[in-house]
Amino acid sequence: MNVIKIGICGLGTVGAGVLTVMQRNADLLNRRAGRAMRVSHVGTRRPKPDLNTADITLSDDIFAVVNDPDVDIVVELIGGYEPAFELVMQAIANGKHVVTANKALIAVHGNAIFTAAEAKGVSVRYEAAVAGGIPIIKALREGLSANKIEWLAGIINGTGNYILTEMRDKGRLFADVLADAQQLGYAEADPTFDVEGIDAAHKLVILASLAFAMPLNIDNCFTQGISAVAPQDVTLATELGYRIKHLGIARRTAKGIEMRVHPTLIPHRRLIANVDGVMNAVLVKGDAVDATLYYGAGAGAEPTASSVIADIVDLVRLSEAPYNAQVLSLGESADTLVEHRVLSINEIESAYYLRVMVDDKPGVLSHITQILSDSGISIDAVLQKESDQHQGHGLPAGHVAVVLITDVIVEAIFTSAVKNIEALDSVTDTVTFIRVESLA
Ligand code: NAP
Repeated sequence: MNVIKIGICGLGTVGAGVLTVMQRNADLLNRRAGRAMRVSHVGTRRPKPDLNTADITLSDDIFAVVNDPDVDIVVELIGGYEPAFELVMQAIANGKHVVTANKALIAVHGNAIFTAAEAKGVSVRYEAAVAGGIPIIKALREGLSANKIEWLAGIINGTGNYILTEMRDKGRLFADVLADAQQLGYAEADPTFDVEGIDAAHKLVILASLAFAMPLNIDNCFTQGISAVAPQDVTLATELGYRIKHLGIARRTAKGIEMRVHPTLIPHRRLIANVDGVMNAVLVKGDAVDATLYYGAGAGAEPTASSVIADIVDLVRLSEAPYNAQVLSLGESADTLVEHRVLSINEIESAYYLRVMVDDKPGVLSHITQILSDSGISIDAVLQKESDQHQGHGLPAGHVAVVLITDVIVEAIFTSAVKNIEALDSVTDTVTFIRVESLA
């Protein structure tokens, strides 16, 4: 049997990791795939003297890899939308299987890519696009295929999780930790995608499509970052028995699909609440299996390479098999995916943490609880903090923080009650609120 030839486009962090691990574990990979494979062609704009590129054709034009008739599988590791989209579509048109780690590409152009691949009879794999080294795509698409997925919730951006962990453990400010994360290489020079939730939204949309067999729908994912999370809320959440995590949540409800990324309070006793630093985790609830949790490194050269190479091994193993032996990109054919209505954020149901800054006068708490009660909102927990109990946490002197946790309610009803609370004379600032998930 011929050796299967792999072409890699982009030799940055992940590309270098893939080449290194493929060379180091070559015998084992060939045995697992049932036939020999090797990297035959790499597209890189710059020479990489630290890597072993003997016997590999090097091109500074990545399209030379895609158009190389000897290459069977194209591995796209350049990132971004263009020219990655054009490259992948060209590879498909040339009849080559594709492996990518590019969540932005899949979230935004996945529908077009998967449809083109199916029409051409080639496969597109993207395990590394979500949660780096954790095989969550395979788990959802194959390991849990018996289940109707009810919901999933994930910490799927390591940078954001690192920042929130440092804020909690060391009482630091968001901006300080972000600057450190950039120096340590955890955050990009432009951190917008990470801290504003865009990266997590890309990943959540992919997970939601797999979970609910629906086309990718990035436009309807509610996205809120962590840049507005205040240190006093991190501390108060801890006092109430919660941790603040930046969660991506997808849930099937009778009204439609919830798809949202935002800071979230989670009870501290949940396993996922204890996923700290740059680590990722995804909790998936299926109707048959119940809750399952997947944990591991969400980024890094070799953890990400682990997922990229697993995709390559799958494709090599099935290279002689008929196309219908391949698992399709979203687990089923593009023809059978169903467009579900995605709920607006006003329609979702959640519990809420709210912090109301008030003048230190008697009777204020009862006014607040009356407004909530008039809106049909039950209260689960209440905490009142004098400003001097929170020295250094930004509570102005002479003011009191009234902190409440509500029961589950429709967001539109909750935000309307918040407006009424803000209209009270004794309320000195806009109300801070953060959604709460029990993940029970
Ligand atoms: P990276 O270190 O920036 O590497 C990208 C490489 O692609 C660079 O070497 C760049 O070359 C090259 N490149 C970009 N455009 C090119 C072009 N037109 N022609 C030739 N080369 C080109 O990025 P990365 O961290 O490896 O990420 C790659 C992909 O993996 C992204 O989609 C990312 O989202 C995904 N991913 C990364 C991680 C991670 O831990 N890093 C984890 C999961 C998924 P130059 O150096 O010349 O610019």
